[in-house]
Amino acid sequence: MTLLKLNEINSFYGGIQALKNISLEVNEGEIVTLIGSNGAGKSTTLKTISGQVKPKSGEIYYKNQDLLKLPTHNIALKGIAHVPEGRKIFSKLTVKENLEMGAFSVKDKKIIKERLERVFNYFPRLRERIDQKGGTMSGGEQQMLAIGRALMMGPSLLMLDEPSMGLAPIIVEQIFEIIEQLNSEGMTILLVEQNAYQALQIAHRGYVIQTGEIQMVGEGKTLMNNEEVKKAYLA
Ligand code: ATP
Repeated sequence: MTLLKLNEINSFYGGIQALKNISLEVNEGEIVTLIGSNGAGKSTTLKTISGQVKPKSGEIYYKNQDLLKLPTHNIALKGIAHVPEGRKIFSKLTVKENLEMGAFSVKDKKIIKERLERVFNYFPRLRERIDQKGGTMSGGEQQMLAIGRALMMGPSLLMLDEPSMGLAPIIVEQIFEIIEQLNSEGMTILLVEQNAYQALQIAHRGYVIQTGEIQMVGEGKTLMNNEEVKKAYLA
């Protein structure tokens, strides 16, 4: 089943067109990755989906609902979680408080407790640091916290913007393992990455974006073996 569908999206920053006729689909249960160089439009695609950037034209459907008709704060409530580039955790709040912020719309304490438990099972490190202030943690821990906070919403689509950015290879490995585990347990994932090699390895499908346009789409493995992709992104 198609969970998310973008049709011919055009997004601008003032007079600069960042997205040109972007059409893409994410099916339930998939890991889909967007790869491309700096400034290609990957982050803008996620921001357009989560409502931070309003496209000038095009359509976005989530579970067959027209997202562009909703106010931004309702988009998250529909089940789309966005982990932004650079994590953006609350540095002065503790790990627990950060996680609770993710569940701000949930009233039932029991559900919050269950979700916290689930996040701690994915990231035991966060349990160990439960009372530590977010800003004092390492980059990898902050990334885990940002993902954990998103999971607290109970999303059906998890959008991750450059989760590997600035992290040591061993930590990147761990983050990608968690992404795969989340997916194997049913989470649909839209993953933006400059680390194309790692992203294509775990993705069912990928889109290559260049200067705001989709250049290529295919299965992760197929793109990985494509000569153009190899030359441009895997060298
Ligand atoms: P990166 O990994 O560097 O974030 P990206 O593929 O995510 O790259 P975007 O951040 O989506 O790219 O940027 C797409 C284009 O829009 C670029 O030309 C960028 O300079 C421009 N852009 C992004 N954000 C803004 C902004 N707030 N104001 C003006 N232009 C912007």
